[in-house]
Amino acid sequence: MRIGEGPYVSVYCRGSNAQPHAKFRIGSFVPSDQPGPLRWVNSHSGYAEHGKERYFRVVPGISQWLVGNVWLNEHERRDQRDNDAFRERWVLGCPTCGLSKPYAEPAVLSSAISALALLRSEDQILEVPLRAFLDHVDRCRDTPEQI
Ligand SMILES: [Zn+2]
Repeated sequence: MRIGEGPYVSVYCRGSNAQPHAKFRIGSFVPSDQPGPLRWVNSHSGYAEHGKERYFRVVPGISQWLVGNVWLNEHERRDQRDNDAFRERWVLGCPTCGLSKPYAEPAVLSSAISALALLRSEDQILEVPLRAFLDHVDRCRDTPEQI
């Protein structure tokens, strides 16, 4: 699939200043196509990157799915979407340096991601290092929502 319908906010990791490592692509967020307030979802197409026409496949990806406390695989997820106990959580992590942060309620990240999306470049893809993303999310959650 070609990139071109943006916007995207992509999160990657290159390690810390003290211990840099090769680029690890964590995932991309895209606006949900569901009606209602703007909500950002994990791009199932993969990682969007500047200057690249195709997505990078991200394995295993940031999304995990549960019904209650039972983990679902990708196939089971499709059957359980309408279950009231269905939920998705995100784990933003890098296996290379071990930095990892789970979010049980991805919706809480939407306003932080929206703020980042406003900074997007001409091709509407914004790539953010994981450490900067987590700092930004913390700052946004400490600040009252602005409408
Ligand atoms: Zn890393």
